[in-house]
Amino acid sequence: MFDYLIVGAGFAGSVLAERLATRSNKKVLIVDKRCHIAGNAYDHYNEEGILVHKYGPHIFHTNSKEVFEYLSNFTEWRPYEHRVLASVDGQLVPMPINLDTINKLYGLSLNSFEVEQFFESQAEEVPVIRTSEDVVVSKVGRQLYEKFFKNYTRKQWGLDPSELDKSVTSRVPTRTNRDDRYFTDTYQAMPLHGYTRMFERLLDHPNIKVMLNTDYHDIIDFIPFKEMIFTGPVDEYFDFKYGKLPYRSLEFKHETLNVEQHLAAPVVNYPNDNLYTRITEFKALTGQKHPKTALVYEYPKAEGDPYYPVPRLENAELYNKYKKLADETPNVHFVGRLATYKYYNMDQVVAQALTLYKKLTEKEESFKPKKPAITGSTSIMEKLVPRDPAKE
Ligand code: FAD
Ligand code: UDP
Repeated sequence: MFDYLIVGAGFAGSVLAERLATRSNKKVLIVDKRCHIAGNAYDHYNEEGILVHKYGPHIFHTNSKEVFEYLSNFTEWRPYEHRVLASVDGQLVPMPINLDTINKLYGLSLNSFEVEQFFESQAEEVPVIRTSEDVVVSKVGRQLYEKFFKNYTRKQWGLDPSELDKSVTSRVPTRTNRDDRYFTDTYQAMPLHGYTRMFERLLDHPNIKVMLNTDYHDIIDFIPFKEMIFTGPVDEYFDFKYGKLPYRSLEFKHETLNVEQHLAAPVVNYPNDNLYTRITEFKALTGQKHPKTALVYEYPKAEGDPYYPVPRLENAELYNKYKKLADETPNVHFVGRLATYKYYNMDQVVAQALTLYKKLTEKEESFKPKKPAITGSTSIMEKLVPRDPAKE
């Protein structure tokens, strides 16, 4: 009998398996239908011996000390600050848009104050910011919106930015200084030996059994367990009772070139050209030295493995119906990007899993009989044996 059946060996499932096994001494079975652990963060050495991320570039960044310290128990880190260039009007310019982006794009030599005035002169007045279009045009105006955001977003999501929640393009800031980092979080680093190695260490405990190539449907009737943690798509769990929740998919085209370096930056975005959104050069992320280089191209698709929940009102409403069902399902806990239909980064999923772990332990504590004030031999011994301050 397992205490927990965990469906999905990505961040959500693996963090919970680790906590439950090591902190609460629970017996855990974690299953994944894929042939590997680590979910979408899975990395591996390709046929040339270059470390690549199978499901696209994963860059770790967080402002949470708790999350960073927690993961640091399972990996050492390589400091890494991510940088992106966008291919616009035949030039490669920094993305997020910053002072250098504007100067290079328009052949200007503005300073920070002047570029702020430039943005103000371009910005459109938007009374209430609701959509991903509103966010950008209200900050930098329509021309920059069309050069950097409109077509990239249409390609990535199959929707116009005006049809997407403001949270999507809000992920990318606008800067008046020369900071060309993609993220500004306090902690920015890559697992020194890769994500998969980190997951191997997370799951390395005698209380944890890992079963790969296994859809949970195939074992659920044969393996006894007390509670389930589910990290797959929530609509699938409920047999699409209210209809399908849209998830955006991607096709990853991996390629190895016989040159040491190919791109001018770790990632180059293509808002307006090509069917792919971006190209990533893995060695720039991992710091690996190798005479060849490995790249991945991301082609967005409507069908295929679910990668991105699609943030827009009608989807949030449909998700809320599934959430109500999920909340009413006893002994099953839904956590992670697909099961809670949230466009979460890795650190947010780790935080969500740690929070669920606390909730589960609190629930268990509340079911334990309360200790009477003075009972059992320890309390009596405490009364009988004089206290030794040196031992305290
Ligand atoms: P997942 O990793 O999706 O794990 C869920 C697992 O459940 C999967 O392995 C799946 O096979 C399994 N599963 C589903 N159904 C079943 C079933 N029926 N039976 C058995 N197993 C099942 N985040 C960042 O912080 N930084 C980044 O740079 C970054 N880049 C990204 C790039 C791309 C292209 C994508 C798609 C995501 C990126 N993310 C990034 C987000 C990150 O991947 C997620 O936040 C994180 O991996 C989510 O973890 P999870 O455990 O919720 O889900
Ligand atoms: N985006 C864009 N142009 C870019 C980069 C991002 O329009 O050059 C928009 C796009 O809608 C994208 C969103 O901003 O989906 C969030 O970008 P992010 O880089 O965070 O996407 P992710 O890495 O999650 O795919």
